[in-house]
Amino acid sequence: MEDFYCKYCGQRFASIRSMTGMWCHRHPDGPNKGKHAPYEGKVKQSYTCRFCGQQFTSIMSMTGMWCHRHPNGQNKGKHEPAL
Ligand SMILES: [Zn+2]
Ligand SMILES: [Zn+2]
Repeated sequence: MEDFYCKYCGQRFASIRSMTGMWCHRHPDGPNKGKHAPYEGKVKQSYTCRFCGQQFTSIMSMTGMWCHRHPNGQNKGKHEPAL
């Protein structure tokens, strides 16, 4: 069975359907201001932030930290995985 990860918080879900029906506590608009969204890339050993290029071992760890090259401004948003 395939696993799906939220690109904002790294939480794992069994289906996209169950994921997108639930509020995401790390949504870019604010905690629980939007639903989880599927990370559409492959599951990897390490994930690269699409804004700053920093590498992380999990989506969950990267999305918990502020990105200094976020498009909304320095440290105005969290790292986001590149596909
Ligand atoms: Zn999420
Ligand atoms: Zn970043």
